[in-house]
Amino acid sequence: MAELEKIETISKKPELSRDDILFLLSLDDPEDIRYLGGLAYAVKKKYVGNKAYLRGLIEFSNICLKDCLYCGIRRSNNSLERFLMSRQEIIDAAEFACKNRYGSVVLQSGERTDGTFTDFVCGIVKDIKSATDGKLGITLSCGEQSKETYRRFFEAGAHRYLLRIEASDRDLYYKLHPPDRHHDFDTRLSCLEWLKEIGFQVGTGVMVGLPFQTISNLANDLMFIKKIDADMIGLGPYIEHSQTPLYEFRQQLMPRQDRLFLTLKMIAVLRIMMKDINIASATALQAIDGFGRERALKFGANIIMPSLTPGKHRKDYLLYEDKPCIEENRDECKDCLEIRIKMAGDETGYEAWGDSLHFINRNHKNQTYV
Ligand code: SAH
Ligand code: SF4
Repeated sequence: MAELEKIETISKKPELSRDDILFLLSLDDPEDIRYLGGLAYAVKKKYVGNKAYLRGLIEFSNICLKDCLYCGIRRSNNSLERFLMSRQEIIDAAEFACKNRYGSVVLQSGERTDGTFTDFVCGIVKDIKSATDGKLGITLSCGEQSKETYRRFFEAGAHRYLLRIEASDRDLYYKLHPPDRHHDFDTRLSCLEWLKEIGFQVGTGVMVGLPFQTISNLANDLMFIKKIDADMIGLGPYIEHSQTPLYEFRQQLMPRQDRLFLTLKMIAVLRIMMKDINIASATALQAIDGFGRERALKFGANIIMPSLTPGKHRKDYLLYEDKPCIEENRDECKDCLEIRIKMAGDETGYEAWGDSLHFINRNHKNQTYV
């Protein structure tokens, strides 16, 4: 306790220093943490409103050429069936989104850079646009691609792209990825720059509670996100997966409950630092706490990503263990979410793209000065 005044003073500063961020991330009294969450929620309400916008998540392929040491669908995991949803299955999922008044979909997959795959992605983006009369906003999350490919995705009609930096500290990044040409920190940075240059609303983020990660790393992550001026953020707790090399370090991890609180603090501090961005409430939060995603809304998140992945593929898209809702279908997800958003005190932003106001404000500002 007794920190409430200091928390409030910091939250009102126009710029948070590294020490301020460290102080907020280190809060451990539940009352202090709740207070921080309340301040972040007030910022969210004032700057972006209390609507939670929906992004129907279509995890359309688990085929991946990368071997990230934390991820359950990494190339070297042979214990799952690899799939690529058909064009028709993907269109069906998008039509479901449209019919149920979701404003947007996220097409997410493992990373492939071959022409067959990138052509396929361009094709489905165009097909979704025409099948839904351009109503659905489309976010892509298909990993690192060439600048030319990103441009083709954009021209096909995708307007947002999610590419988490995963860890903004170069040394930590290389502890989480094997040392080969597929896992190059500088390439990932370049991708984020290209996406921005091309005109995407750019989303990034990190995992919280990774082995080897410190509070200082996390403070730097938040400063990195601010520095690159991201429009959207997806950050969620790291959750171990037994079929991955990082599993070996599970004894070093903080308890899952602590990872949840640390993630909530990260969300709250980010909302205070970057008032008009979109912040997703990561599904991984729900793997720790049945109400993890609603708690994130109360700490400043404003985007929810209900799964539209067909039930038969969900068990093969386990990035981490204990992924929630793998037995549900998309109708159940829809009903469940509406209730959950209401419980958090928010409204559901139906039939709206819910674009990042940060992106809109930045472009508006640029136009004024050009
Ligand atoms: N292949 C693309 C998108 C799919 S992975 C990419 O890597 O960008 C989507 C996100 O899942 C990753 O960015 C990573 O942050 C998250 N993820 C992977 N393994 C995870 C784990 N074990 N715990 C929590 N999140 C994980
Ligand atoms: Fe592939 Fe993405 Fe998983 Fe890395 S995090 S192994 S790129 S799906």
